Amino acid sequence: MSRSSTSPKWAWKIGSIRGIPLRIHATFPLVLLWAAWEWGRNGSLHTALYGMALVVALFGCVVLHELGHAFVARWRGIVVEEILLLPLGGLAQFRSPLDNPRDEFLVAVAGPLVNLALIGVLLPPTLVPLVSLTQFGLINALTTPGWQSLAFYLLLTNALLAGFNLLPIFPMDGGRMLRATLTAGLSYERATWVAVRLGQSVAVLMGLYGFFQNLWFLLMGVFLFFAAEQEMRRLAQRQLLDTAHVGNHMTRRGLTFAPSTHVHSAYLVARMSLQPIWPVVERGRLLGLVSRAAIEKAAASASRIADIMQTSYPVLTPRDTLYRAQTLLAESNSEAAAVIENGVFVGIFSVYDLMHALRQLEETPA
Ligand SMILES: [Zn+2]
Repeated sequence: MSRSSTSPKWAWKIGSIRGIPLRIHATFPLVLLWAAWEWGRNGSLHTALYGMALVVALFGCVVLHELGHAFVARWRGIVVEEILLLPLGGLAQFRSPLDNPRDEFLVAVAGPLVNLALIGVLLPPTLVPLVSLTQFGLINALTTPGWQSLAFYLLLTNALLAGFNLLPIFPMDGGRMLRATLTAGLSYERATWVAVRLGQSVAVLMGLYGFFQNLWFLLMGVFLFFAAEQEMRRLAQRQLLDTAHVGNHMTRRGLTFAPSTHVHSAYLVARMSLQPIWPVVERGRLLGLVSRAAIEKAAASASRIADIMQTSYPVLTPRDTLYRAQTLLAESNSEAAAVIENGVFVGIFSVYDLMHALRQLEETPA
């Protein structure tokens, strides 16, 4: 799976692959313990350790699947925030949404393709024993620790990962590929609606099947139903933000600082103000932005505003839509953008302006 959003807490960074941080959710050790218990029930430490090694190998396949998403995303110019490993699977997280259907399709298909490639590698050494073994022999091979059982499990895992992710249920990879394909004939909104509702129908069937047969399917159906609904909410928000413009929601006449101001005096002013970020202006010209956090951090030092301001910042125009502003702030990982009209600095648009505007827009009946 892949998505764009902020990362949850309770996850530890365990390393990084080509600059992409790999974080693991705190519940992951529970899965390891469960595997040790499952495999070590016969009282053998050896098989318990094997069970844990198996879980690590299975999660290795999940990581490779997510890396498939991540590397293709990077190739398409999308910033990859991290790969998060949850007990239910992995998530490649991007800084901004994949609004371009072509990008969305390529990024989505890359994950299952990695698993199909792994199946291609694993199949030759496992094929002969797989077809020659009887049912009993197969069960025996799967429950006896060793290279053969490991190869079988990895084959099975990759087949499940590829199959499950290719289900046309939004937000699974298959659902994303479906939406992207539908945009060839439908509008983005209509394509999303079809992909989400179709996915939810499958999720309901899955849940019903699970209700009578298998609790796991029930949980999965419920999870997928609500995850798909999230996309409808994101789309509604996007449509709302597309109708409003930066010029009507920016902070126009806020407080400004001169570059020569002492940080300590700025700190005293900042404490009285509700503004989260201030423009640094000299003779009407914008030199940089300074945030509350930067001022608070340097409050005790003798520096001046010019020393702590950020001189590179995203730029918007009053005519930009709020959706464009939201995407730009996310992509540049910034708290605020300068609003420039015909070369003249006219205001600041911050994430707080965005939140405020969104609340206002949601309250106004359409
Ligand atoms: Zn995926």
